[in-house]
Amino acid sequence: MARHREAVCRLCRREGQKLFLKGLRCFTEKCAIEKRNFVPGQHGQARRPKMVGYGIQLREKQKVKRTYGLLERQFRTYFEKSERTKGPTGSNLIIMLERRLDNVVYRTGLAGSRSQARQLVLHGHIRVKGKKVNIPSYLVEVGDEVALKDNMHENAMVLEARNLAQSQGIAPWLDIDRPNFKARVVAMPRREDVQTPPMNEQLIVELYSK
Ligand code: SF4
Repeated sequence: MARHREAVCRLCRREGQKLFLKGLRCFTEKCAIEKRNFVPGQHGQARRPKMVGYGIQLREKQKVKRTYGLLERQFRTYFEKSERTKGPTGSNLIIMLERRLDNVVYRTGLAGSRSQARQLVLHGHIRVKGKKVNIPSYLVEVGDEVALKDNMHENAMVLEARNLAQSQGIAPWLDIDRPNFKARVVAMPRREDVQTPPMNEQLIVELYSK
């Protein structure tokens, strides 16, 4: 499956803010944004260029795309589907991205980052309504129960992620059962339920409407 091959901390540094792509490390002083928050590359320590119009819109799109670990074509497809869905396109886009199975695994606290969550899904460790689903882009529906396979409950990466998640905010659209490594989707996510990182999806709509 296509994915970013660049060191992920560079992506945060490019956007100038934490995108939380590396699990526990993002909450320690080892985070690259804490240590060197400047644009990567030879001239990165020069002042960030002042952006207007297209530049601002482009950076916002890149930020959201990188947060959810998508490539351009996949992201564009979500945008086109959002346009065809009833309601504001920008909100539809964020809601659709939130409903991805890898994101739900991450929000449930079974993985420390969306890329770890994607690995769990791809390797067949995730069940939806009791059945194996190994498609990270699977969109959950209300009533779905997402659970980790029993033999992964002692996995060190999973336990670390669960500990980390206990100090994080809870997605109100998920009924999370941490002791049993599962969650039930009790409602569709609403735009206001998604707060991290801060996103201005209207800028993405403007970018793609040019
Ligand atoms: Fe790296 Fe996480 Fe910090 Fe981003 S937030 S720079 S991914 S450690």
